Amino acid sequence: MATLTFHGAARQVTGSCYLVETARSRVLVECGLFQGPPEIDARNARPFAFAPRDLDAVVLTHAHLDHSGLVPRLRREGFRGRVYATPPALELLAIMLKDAAHIHEKDAEWENRKRERAGDPPIAPLYTLQDAEDALTLGEPLVYGQRAGITNDVEICFRDAGHILGSAIVELWVDDNGARRKIVFSGDLGNRTAPLLRDPEVVREADVLLLESTYGDRDHRPLPATLEEFAGILAHAARDGGNVLIPAFAVGRTQDLLYYLGEFYHAGQLPQTQVFLDSPMAIAATEIHQRYTQVFNREARAALRRNGNSAREFLPPLRFVHTVEESMALNRVTGGAIIIAGSGMCSGGRIRHHLKWNLWREAAHVVMVGFQAQGTPGRALVDGARKLRLLGEELAVKAHIHTLGGFSAHAGQTDLVKWAVHFEPRPQLYLVHGELDKMQALQARLKTAHDWEAQIPIEGQTIRL
Ligand SMILES: [Zn+2]
Repeated sequence: MATLTFHGAARQVTGSCYLVETARSRVLVECGLFQGPPEIDARNARPFAFAPRDLDAVVLTHAHLDHSGLVPRLRREGFRGRVYATPPALELLAIMLKDAAHIHEKDAEWENRKRERAGDPPIAPLYTLQDAEDALTLGEPLVYGQRAGITNDVEICFRDAGHILGSAIVELWVDDNGARRKIVFSGDLGNRTAPLLRDPEVVREADVLLLESTYGDRDHRPLPATLEEFAGILAHAARDGGNVLIPAFAVGRTQDLLYYLGEFYHAGQLPQTQVFLDSPMAIAATEIHQRYTQVFNREARAALRRNGNSAREFLPPLRFVHTVEESMALNRVTGGAIIIAGSGMCSGGRIRHHLKWNLWREAAHVVMVGFQAQGTPGRALVDGARKLRLLGEELAVKAHIHTLGGFSAHAGQTDLVKWAVHFEPRPQLYLVHGELDKMQALQARLKTAHDWEAQIPIEGQTIRL
C-alpha cells in the first residue's frame, strides 16, 4: 500500500517535507528548514520522523531553504541517495546551503561564547559547511520535461513552476502492486507577472494534488501600478539628491529588480547613474541567472537579445560590490545612488550599514519590496517607527519609507485556482505551505466557485495513495 505523510508545511509556510512510501521504496519530496520565531526555529534540531538512511531518494522543487535547507542534516544522519532537482536549482542550492551553513556555524560560535562564560557545555551548529558540501555531492540534475525512474517503482518529471530560477512542479508516479497512482506537488507556484520566468506550466492529470497556499486569501496589487510607483520614487529621490536603499533577497527578487531597472534605463526613466549590487550572494545568483536565460520567458529573452545578455550590459549603471572595503566606500556616496543589498528584512547583511548611513537623512528613500516578518527591523520601518536600533546604535528615521506590494514571487489566490482547475477529473486535493487562515480562504473559494472539497492536512498525517 503506497502512502504519503505530511512532515512539514502543514498549516504553516515553512518546513516543506513529504514522505512517499511504497512496498519497495521511500522518497522524500522536499526537506525544508522551519523558519520563524525561536519556537519554530527549534524544530530544525528535532529528530527526523523517519530514518534518513532508509530513504532512497530526495526530490527538491526549488532551492529556497524552506524547501531544501535540512538536506545537509539528512546527509550527516545517514542519507546516501541522490538529490534530484533541475540544473539551475542545484546551482542555486550550492550558494544557499553554504550560506546557511555559515550562518549556523556563526550562530553556534556566538552561543558557545555565552555558554562558556556561564559554564555550560557547548552546542554543535545545526550543520557545518562540510555537511553542506557533502550534501551537494548527492545532487542529480534533471531538466524540465525529462521523465526519470528514481527508484524501482517511483518515476518523476519536473515542470516549470515559474517561482524562482529552476523551480519545479513535481509529477510523481508510484507503482503499487501493479496499480499506478500519480501525485502532483505544485511546489511554490510563480506569479504570472514576474518579469523573467515563464508562467507555471499547466498539468492536467493527477490522482492526488498538493497545492501551495501562501497567498490563498488574496491577489497581489497589479504590477503596472507597482512599477509606476517605483519609477515615481526614483524620480523623487533624484530630485532630492538622496540615495535609494532596497533591501532584497539575493535570489529572485534581486534579479527581477535589476531587470526592471534595466527597462527603466532603456525607456529613459532611470535618473540615477549608479546602481550598486552590494551582496556577494546576490552577485553569484545573478551570474547563475545569466547562464540560464534559455528558461526565461519570451519577452525577457527578446529584451536581453536587444539590450545585452548580462545584467551589466542590460543595466549599464550597475556595479557589483564584492568586498567589505568596497561596501564601506559606499558610505561616502551621496547625491543619489541606488543600493541593493541583503538581507531582505534588514535583520542581517550589508543593508544595515547602508541604513546606518542613510536612515537619518531626509533626502534618502528606503524601498521595501518583499514580505517583512514581525520583529524584524524591516517590519519596524514599514510600521512607521521613528527610531530604529541597528548595529548597537539608535537611529532617527527621517528617510522616506516605501512599500511596494506587486513584486511577489508567488501566485495570488485567483492564479492558484486557475492553475488547479486544469486538472480533470478533479484529484484529491490537499492544501499545504500556507498559514491556516489563508488555506481556509482558498478552501472556501474552491468550494463555492468549483464545488471542489480541499483537505487541510495536519502534520504527521498519512494518506493512502
Ligand atoms: Zn519558494
